[in-house]
Amino acid sequence: MKVLVINCGSSSLKYQLFDMENEQVMVKGLVERIGIPGSVLTHRPGNEKHVFETQIPDHKKAITLVLEAIIHPEYGVLQSMSEITAIGHRVVHGSEDYAFSVLLTDDVMEVIKKNIELAPLHNPPNIMGIEACQYLMPTVPQVCVFDTAFHQTMPPKAYLYGIPYEYYEKYKIRKYGFHGTSHQYVSQRAAALLGQPRNELKIIACHLGNGSSISAVKGGQCVDTTMGFTPLEGLMMGTRSGDLDPTVVTFLMEKEGWSCAEANNFLNKQCGVLGLSGVSSDFRDLESAAQEGNQRAQLALDRFAYGVKKFIGAYAAVLNGVDALVFTAGLGENSASMREKICQGLDYLGIEIDAEKNKVRGQEAFISTVASKTKVLVIPTNEELMIARDTYEIVNREK
Ligand code: ADP
Repeated sequence: MKVLVINCGSSSLKYQLFDMENEQVMVKGLVERIGIPGSVLTHRPGNEKHVFETQIPDHKKAITLVLEAIIHPEYGVLQSMSEITAIGHRVVHGSEDYAFSVLLTDDVMEVIKKNIELAPLHNPPNIMGIEACQYLMPTVPQVCVFDTAFHQTMPPKAYLYGIPYEYYEKYKIRKYGFHGTSHQYVSQRAAALLGQPRNELKIIACHLGNGSSISAVKGGQCVDTTMGFTPLEGLMMGTRSGDLDPTVVTFLMEKEGWSCAEANNFLNKQCGVLGLSGVSSDFRDLESAAQEGNQRAQLALDRFAYGVKKFIGAYAAVLNGVDALVFTAGLGENSASMREKICQGLDYLGIEIDAEKNKVRGQEAFISTVASKTKVLVIPTNEELMIARDTYEIVNREK
């Protein structure tokens, strides 16, 4: 059975085709600059790379080109489109409606559309990807895998804000959490690598990338997470502010004469390590600038690591102990210095990093010392595989 996984952004589309017999990726690729001059499709079967620069005005055209590439006699991997048994879509917001992945139906589509008001930047491109697939492959079943679903197990004391309850009832204002597919994948992998059943483990998963979030996972279920009503809450990120006193926003709106849209743009695009450093939102740039003596780049890195450390402490309290601390995503998988900085002075939690083992980049590894009571792991995330697995399981179940 072949499953095509699709992850649509507003101007980009990532895809991976899985052979579910062995869970191997047959081909993967990326369409960039959809609807913008300079559109490009990068198609990667195995170690090859084929780049096509052509006009791609919308998601339908993007998916058409992806399907053509997949069945192309020279660089394709399938004879015909009919070999694709199912499609799995990443959908950002499932609200309280979905705690699990679901088979796409008209009702499901209605709910995803309803949730646009909760995720105005993310759900619309997800919908465009789904509709393009419905148009091009009307008989192929499609499954929606939600970024918020894994966090639906949080108890009300973790997801409610300190605002009048009526706003939760009226507008569904609460913490939802994001990156759920990644947190679920790495916590499952951690249990497998530890050789212990998931339901016995207390895990803190740190997804540290451009967007960053941390989850507390008890017995395989999420009990708390740092992102909130939107992906702005929690850790300071590449360009997002993370937690701050809400009054800072109203104060700045008054002082600078900003509209709501301008304030939103500021909080999402101009803050985080970019705003604090004045250098870059990219952690590689910050690390090299700091090495060259840029003090504000150093300050941004220190502030970021401090924020992660504080949440590790908070979640250790929430979980009443921690068996495993996991690092994943671009920064978490690759930056030994950031992992070291975060874990410095966490010995009271029994967290001790082995400097030699910590040199690892982008591969699964234990990086704690033998004596470390809490195991520390690096686990590259694989949201696409998680989406392919859910799609495979749901489609087989429905048969
Ligand atoms: P997203 O999927 O949220 O866009 P990623 O998970 O790809 O983000 O993470 C991107 C971040 O990871 C960037 O800030 C990048 O600088 C950082 N990163 C990637 N590799 C390294 C590295 N070797 N050292 C430090 N940071 C890295």
